Amino acid sequence: MSDKVKVATVSLGGCFGCHMSLLDIDERLIDLLELIEFDRTPLTDIKQIGECDLGIVEGGVCNAENVEVLKEFRRHCKTLVSFGACAITGGIPAMRNQFTLTECLEESYLQGMGIADAQIPDDPEIPMLLNQVYPIHEVVKIDYFLPGCPPSADTIWTFLQELLAGEPIEFAYQQIHYD
Ligand code: SF4
Repeated sequence: MSDKVKVATVSLGGCFGCHMSLLDIDERLIDLLELIEFDRTPLTDIKQIGECDLGIVEGGVCNAENVEVLKEFRRHCKTLVSFGACAITGGIPAMRNQFTLTECLEESYLQGMGIADAQIPDDPEIPMLLNQVYPIHEVVKIDYFLPGCPPSADTIWTFLQELLAGEPIEFAYQQIHYD
């Protein structure tokens, strides 16, 4: 049986930019794959999560499916990481929180510029939107927060190296300095 650390990742209401930044650790991915094995993640396209050591969650909680997936990650992952500004604060998706859901839907589908066939989609396959977008720690317990939009590849690398080695997480100043 493999003794590698099992890692799952997911993007909820995110742009996949945080996942792209993970891939930006470039050739260090080869070193990483010596230590970890990916379970459910957009990188493997595995759709069901198994028992995992580490879960990494990008994006805010925007709809009912996001809530379900996030709770599933919490149940299956020993350690859960809030990955990037959208997961930590709601970020870009949470910009809609200053409006009601009805206002957002009407602007997007009925009254916005260039709309030809005005109707609000109501297919049951479409996940039900929440009234607001939530940071993920307001829905489940989170063990680590990794800020940035996106966190830089070096920051991700430092975080994973130290976490996997069981060391305290410590960043150089420039890795967590954003202006
Ligand atoms: Fe995209 Fe930035 Fe949000 Fe990550 S934090 S999902 S890069 S907008």
